[in-house]
This record gives sequence, structure tokens and C-alpha cells, in this order.
Amino acid sequence: MKTLKFAVLPGDGIGPEVMEVALDVLKSAGEKFSFTLDYENADIGGIAIDNHGTAFPDSTKQVCEASEAILFGSVGGPKWESLPPKEQPERAALLPIRKTFSLYANVRPGLLYPELTDASPLKKERIPNGIDIVCIRELTGGIYFGQPKSTSTLENGEEQAIDTMVYKTSEIERISKVAIDTAKARGNRVCSVDKANVLETSVLWRKVVTAYFAKHAPEIELSHMYVDNAAMQLARDPNQFDVLFTENMFGDILSDEMGVICGSLGMLASASLGAQKNSLGFPFGLYEPSGGTAPDIAGQGIANPCAQILSVAMMLRYSFGQLEAATAIEIAVEKAVTSGNRTGDIAFGLDPIGTKAMGEAVLSYL
Ligand code: NAD
Repeated sequence: MKTLKFAVLPGDGIGPEVMEVALDVLKSAGEKFSFTLDYENADIGGIAIDNHGTAFPDSTKQVCEASEAILFGSVGGPKWESLPPKEQPERAALLPIRKTFSLYANVRPGLLYPELTDASPLKKERIPNGIDIVCIRELTGGIYFGQPKSTSTLENGEEQAIDTMVYKTSEIERISKVAIDTAKARGNRVCSVDKANVLETSVLWRKVVTAYFAKHAPEIELSHMYVDNAAMQLARDPNQFDVLFTENMFGDILSDEMGVICGSLGMLASASLGAQKNSLGFPFGLYEPSGGTAPDIAGQGIANPCAQILSVAMMLRYSFGQLEAATAIEIAVEKAVTSGNRTGDIAFGLDPIGTKAMGEAVLSYL
């Protein structure tokens, strides 16, 4: 019987609530698919600031380093918003953990089941069969990490801030491979999004992507789109895309737009995959819901645990190669949700059945 060794970082707000339910589902999947769990909890984000004085303590880093994957909740909340920006949970935990483990590829499925089209702000006739796309976002390059990054006071007394957008060929090539692999497992189409009419980094992005796809995957249908148009097209006809592929900041914005058109943040999971392989030969990765800590509903037991449960499924698929168990969990979530078990998502606008009850509904279909 295989043992899956991973770190559990529930974080703040609804993080611990949805994590508990997701771990119950994972334990049950283990019994069914013959694997056992060996996981260790560690603090991250606001709770880590409270307990250790820093959002990403060394002790948490060590727990992650000793693991094959990281199961992450979410971090942040009003309690820590008055801290200096550099010390706030999102910036001081999320960005360093991505950098530490070279988590350069963010895979975010945008899935809306046909039965739930009423949860999307898009008109039903635009998405008669729901939505099924995936966004591949470069996660460790571009303007969020480029140097110089500074704020200074000029001689005339006004302030000036600088962010730098940088990309190298190797960074673009390795994320191109992830886009290709993703497209091969789906509809064989990739739309690469950039701003090549204005940005130097985008000119390089388009050149490298075109050459890499031509050499390594000529069978994939590759198209290019400017980011402003992509934002419009996502709202107009999302299913024209199969794999939406882009750099860090554009992906940050477009994947959130994708989240909203899919109806509920409480349903969307994501995987951030690393350059390093784990000891099993699979990518080391961090798996988390797309939403945040939802302070408006935290502590009420009504948060939707599905995004966290689907993050578990992604972890099983990518970092442990447990494809059967991953698919079984995804099917169980779909059945639970489409058979009328809805949670407290504001987007759904229906009476919540509660986080634990939602977990039980998923378990009943596993
Ligand atoms: P949010 O995603 O926490 O909440 C936005 C809305 O979606 C809220 O109405 C919330 O109730 C709802 N929502 C989100 N997840 C839900 C779920 N599972 N079930 C039901 N409803 C859900 O975004 P926000 O309000 O902008 O941010 C709140 C805090 O979370 C902030 O401190 C922010 O920095 C942090 N945050 C963290 C992450 C992360 O850890 N990756 C991501 C985004 C935001």
C-alpha cells in the first residue's frame, strides 16, 4: 500500500474549515484506492504571523521540504491588513513559497457544470453547456518578481515607483511545455495571450512560444491574442478557448475573470507545479482553492469546500499519479453539486447546506 506524504497548510479564515472536509474526502479515497496518508500540518499566513512572527516561517518551509506536495488553504484577512504591505500574509507567504519551490506553472481549470449555468453572470445562451477551459499561467517571472522594484523620492519631492517586467527564453519554454501537455490531454488547442503590440517581453513571449510549439508540438493548434481582446472574448464566448496560456500578471487577471464567469470561487481549484520532481518522479506542486479566506463567511460553517476537495484531486493526479482516485473525487463533487447540494456561495444565492454537509454529500458519491 502506497503512503502519500504531503504538507497541509490550512492558513486563515475559511482555510481550516474547508481543509478539514477535504482531508476527510482524501482519507476515504485512500481506503477505496489503497493508499495511506502521512501528512503534517504547519502554519502559514496570518496564523503564522501570530504564532511565529512571520507569514512563512522556517519551520513551515522545513515541513514542505520534507513532503512530496503541499496542500494549501488560503491566507490573509482583516486582522493583518494594517501591517506594512511587505509583511502582509499574501505577499509574505504566497510569493516566497512560489519562489522557494520554483512553482512556475499555475494550472487553473475553469469548469462550470451545465446544470449550474444559472450561477454564472453570463447569459445562459452564451454557455448552454456550461464552461470547460483551463488557464496556464506563468507564476514566477514577469512584473511581480522583476528587478528593479522600488519606490523613491525624486529631487522635486514627488514619489516614483518602479516595477520591472522581465522574461527569459528558458522561462517561456518551460511553461510552453506545460501548456502543450495540458492541451494534449484536452482539446489540442492553445491560445497564447500577450501584449506584443506594446511590450518587449510580449514580443519575446510570442516568438519563443511560436518556435517552441512548432518544434515540439506542431499538431497543437496554436493561436495568439492580445490580452485586452482576451478579456473581452472570455466574457463573450469563453468556450472558444481550450487552453488559455499566458504570463504572470495577465494570467492573474484573466484567471480571476475566468473564476467569476464560472459562477463561484468556491468551486475552482488550482495547481502550481514546480521545476523539481518529488521522490516519486512526479512534479512537486502546491494545490489550493482559487478563492481567498472569505472573511465575510468565515466561522459560519457555510463555505463551499468543493474547491479544496478538487485541489486534493489535482494533488493526487499531478504529484502522486493517483489518476483513478483523482477522477473518482471529481465525479463525486460533480454528482454532489449537480444533485442539488449547494453551499453558501453568494454567487449561487441559495440556502447553504453547510461545509460539513457538502463534504458528506461528496463522500456519499465516492
Ligand atoms: P475571497 O476569495 O476571499 O472572497 C470573495 C467572495 O467569494 C466573498 O464573498 C467570499 O465569501 C466568496 N468565497 C470565496 N471562497 C468561497 C467559498 N469557498 N465558499 C463560499 N464563498 C466563497 O476574496 P477577498 O474577499 O478579495 O479576499 C479575502 C482575503 O483573502 C484577503 O485577505 C485576501 O488577501 C485573501 N486572499 C488570499 C488568497 C490566497 O490565499 N491564495 C487569494 C485571494 C485572496
